[in-house]
Amino acid sequence: MAAQDAFDLVVIGGGPGGYTAARRAAELGLRTAVVDRCRRLGGTCLRVGCIPSKTLLSLTEAYAYARDRLSQDGINARQGFEIDLPRLYAYKDAVVAKLAEGVAFLMRQNGVRVIEGTARIAGPQSVAVRHAQGEEEILEARAVLLATGSEPIDLPFLRFDGRLVVGSSEALCFPEVPKTLLIIGAGAIGLELGSVWSRLGSEVTIVEQLPRIAAGFSPTGAGALQRELAKQRIRFLLAARVTGAEVGEARVKVRVEEGGREQDLVVDRVLVAVGRRPHHAGLALEEAGILLTERGRIRVNRFWQTSLPWVYAIGDLIEGPMLAHRAQAEGRAVAELLAGKPARVRYLCIPNVIYTEPEAAGVGFSEEDFRAAKRRYRRGTAYFPANGRALAADMPNGFVTVWMDEESGRFAGMEVLGSRASELIGAGAVALEAEVSVESLARAVPAHPSFMESVHEAAIAALRARPSGGF
Ligand code: FAD
Ligand code: NAD
Repeated sequence: MAAQDAFDLVVIGGGPGGYTAARRAAELGLRTAVVDRCRRLGGTCLRVGCIPSKTLLSLTEAYAYARDRLSQDGINARQGFEIDLPRLYAYKDAVVAKLAEGVAFLMRQNGVRVIEGTARIAGPQSVAVRHAQGEEEILEARAVLLATGSEPIDLPFLRFDGRLVVGSSEALCFPEVPKTLLIIGAGAIGLELGSVWSRLGSEVTIVEQLPRIAAGFSPTGAGALQRELAKQRIRFLLAARVTGAEVGEARVKVRVEEGGREQDLVVDRVLVAVGRRPHHAGLALEEAGILLTERGRIRVNRFWQTSLPWVYAIGDLIEGPMLAHRAQAEGRAVAELLAGKPARVRYLCIPNVIYTEPEAAGVGFSEEDFRAAKRRYRRGTAYFPANGRALAADMPNGFVTVWMDEESGRFAGMEVLGSRASELIGAGAVALEAEVSVESLARAVPAHPSFMESVHEAAIAALRARPSGGF
């Protein structure tokens, strides 16, 4: 167990937060290593999260569109369409492999040392890495960045068994299409994976404890999304509680209470999607004196420093929304700070997207935020049925809402429900970061026909609207 290389930065965890930090640090001339317990870098996001789920969502969206809509629009699919699950998975795995190779290439290109092993804080300025074969290596580090992400939470009476009661990773590769699927939690995972399996033919029921789905979105946006998903035969039990369960040989009986009424649902599979918890077991945080928040996340200051000033933490480990692009922004910022550069992350400018069809996306302030802050605002909405491109593409369900801060006239936030929302919201993120006025957004000329015209129209509508809110 001899001391080996000395690094300016050792990153523990090679997910989007960790690999982005490592790449940026090396680009800026820091001697950098990244340690991950998996051979393939990319973290939850690349291996079992954003990328495989979006691959399945894209393919099943095309399938459901071809099956349910094309013939209405004048294209007859005389032979019909069939799902070939193994080939669908093979495509998903190929996408993941290709992107993982891209991350590995970026590490090589920038001279980052990639180490496979499980790491922990070993003492002052030192990290111990246990390799798969069992031997331990000590790395000296001027700074350490913790980026070990998160893991799914199960329920006391519905423990993950990897077979009938599963988390999102197993729900990305069920061996066959379950005839019935019960999902607990109507957040991003429940809605996205519910869409995938419903499109493939499962009868999907989603049980949510709150009286609404998609809690991060406005009641209007969430309500409209729920109506669209209900049309796709996803059944919702809202303000509902799972009160018990019996896991059998081949099926699961789940007792659900909704509006004072109890019912038993017998299903083929249960996906528990009630959130994720930070993964920091084994990092030796307590021994190192690194403090946690009340919710069990790692406590950091505004420079992402933990209670040990040479140890930093980012991404799903710390408070805030668990999003890959947020982890990446923080990773980049920590690398820049360590290289002596100014860096910041404007959390208000980070978009949030649910990749259902229609997609839901939001960034910045919403109506509720203005009301809570007692600030005056204007709101403008444009509807997709009036958008030529949306109609031409047979994707007319949706709208764009833009909020303007009345005092400054600045663009303050945007919510989009509809196809391409994940792309359109990028315009809102840029407008917010650049602090542009709603007038500038209204003056900018979008291509015709394009979905972006709805952003432009919503900005014009906001300028013309009457102010609301304030005291
Ligand atoms: P992670 O990506 O979790 O990476 C942590 C890494 O640390 C892992 O590679 C792990 O192997 C490694 N590690 C852990 N402990 C150790 C140790 N002791 N030593 C060495 N290595 C260790 N977010 C989005 O923004 N958009 C999406 O579309 C999206 N879709 C998602 C879909 C699903 C199904 C799931 C589950 C999540 C999704 N997310 C999405 C969330 C996103 O995946 C996470 O927010 C993101 O991966 C967090 O990045 P991270 O770098 O903090 O950690
Ligand atoms: P989530 O926090 O987004 O949603 C969990 C939902 O489960 C909430 O609506 C909550 O009210 C509900 N819930 C909690 N306990 C419950 C119970 N006992 N019974 C019924 N409902 C219950 O969590 P998630 O969907 O599991 O996703 C985990 C993380 O991954 C999130 O932070 C999310 O942001 C991230 N993620 C993001 C994307 C994306 O950006 N598109 C996609 C997937 C996951």
